[in-house]
Amino acid sequence: MPRQDHFSTRSIHVGSEPDPSTGAVVPSLSVATTFKQDGVNKLRGYDYSRSGNPTRSALESLLTSLETSPLASISEDARRDVSQGDSLVFASGSAATAAIAHWVTLSEDEGGAGGKDGKGYGGHILAVNDVYGGTARYLARTSRPTGLEVTFLNMEKAGEKGIREAMRSDTRLIWLEVPTNPLLLVPPLRLISDIVHSLPSKTRPLILIDSTFLSPFYFTPLISASADTHPLADITMSSLSKYSSGHSDIILGSLTVSPTIASSRPNLLKGLRFLQNSMGASPSPRDCHLMIRSIKTLSVRMVKHGLNALRISAFLAANPLVERVRYPGLTSDGAFHQVQDLLSPNARRELEFLGWKFPYNPKESSKENIDTNSLEYTRSLGIPFGGMITFAIKDATAQEAEKFCTELRIAILAESLGGVESLVEVPYGMTHSHLPQETLKELNITPNLIRLSVGIEDYDDLAEDLERALNAAKGKSNGIA
Ligand SMILES: *Cc1c(COP(=O)(O)O)cnc(C)c1O
Repeated sequence: MPRQDHFSTRSIHVGSEPDPSTGAVVPSLSVATTFKQDGVNKLRGYDYSRSGNPTRSALESLLTSLETSPLASISEDARRDVSQGDSLVFASGSAATAAIAHWVTLSEDEGGAGGKDGKGYGGHILAVNDVYGGTARYLARTSRPTGLEVTFLNMEKAGEKGIREAMRSDTRLIWLEVPTNPLLLVPPLRLISDIVHSLPSKTRPLILIDSTFLSPFYFTPLISASADTHPLADITMSSLSKYSSGHSDIILGSLTVSPTIASSRPNLLKGLRFLQNSMGASPSPRDCHLMIRSIKTLSVRMVKHGLNALRISAFLAANPLVERVRYPGLTSDGAFHQVQDLLSPNARRELEFLGWKFPYNPKESSKENIDTNSLEYTRSLGIPFGGMITFAIKDATAQEAEKFCTELRIAILAESLGGVESLVEVPYGMTHSHLPQETLKELNITPNLIRLSVGIEDYDDLAEDLERALNAAKGKSNGIA
């Protein structure tokens, strides 16, 4: 058996094998829209670039490898067949969302979930309540003409009874986000998976997790935690525009289907490919090429994002002008108890090298007399788990929240996340402003709530920037110049 390689190795080599004819170590960019046939319908693998393209295929095999195997040989991975799972890359994360929403309503004959009665049209999605704004808009409004019905549920509050009651005989998909946006909550994933797997396996709804906020570096829900547990999801969806790109310069999205479900429901991939091709939601090969390059540094970037975010979240929690700090990796966070369970085998491995011990025991590490500028102190704060933080500025008005954002020298006021540069935004007035007032209230998205995408700049510079802007926003004189 060939040597099995880890995440970081595969992120650099899968889909990037040296060119067999020239030896080029960077794969060629394939820009052709159409491909020569050796006879009528005798294809060499591709016919037209909307339906498939070599550069896109290279990116898809890379994503499949990272999302579905903790360990695999790089040489075997490049030639895997779909029984090991498969990925589809779309022009954006939103195009991936559109395809999966459409798949729910598509007839079984076409490879769809069948809609209401198997023949297509209608059908039901049960979704967590604070999903990405664009997802809520697509599921609740754009897809309405297809008859799709959606229930948004606070799954944590609903508990087992509430979740079971919300499921219908035509529920085809459970839509989850981990963590949710902007509140960074983690739905009870194990419970949801247990409920779904208690139903007949041929007809049970599939579980989709949008894992954009963590990337496959931190979270791989298609991989089972152990041989006797179900994977937490059947399909992962990702906006590659965020951490996978990492440089705020590419828009792309993906769906990855788990090996288990690819073999038990072979029609699923057929249906998704059919939709990807017929909806025209294809990515540019140039973007795919750039994305392959970006993913080669995903591991190193994500480690630094996580270390910075853990330290910044503790720093903010200690500031008297700040309240409601949310970072799932911080020991005081409501979701912390789930983090160790969810952490990908690969992130665990990287963190163990940095001295983290699992199972993590915060009591073992006392914070007394440790230099706060050390890895030892950072380990006492919790576990790095992505780079997103949400917090509120205490008693701040919308104007003060805005002043905080414009006072920042390093972090940039802008939507989106996941780039090497820190970005800050006010969900109430920006990403979530289209939600009805009652929903904003119910979710506790207030005008003083700030979402921070922590970049990989120097920690001290970021901390200084945040403290100075907080003081300026609340009219406090700045001790620091
Ligand atoms: C950005 C984002 C999307 C949409 O992706 P695009 O690439 O912008 O279309 C979906 N889900 C989450 C969680 C996101 O952050």
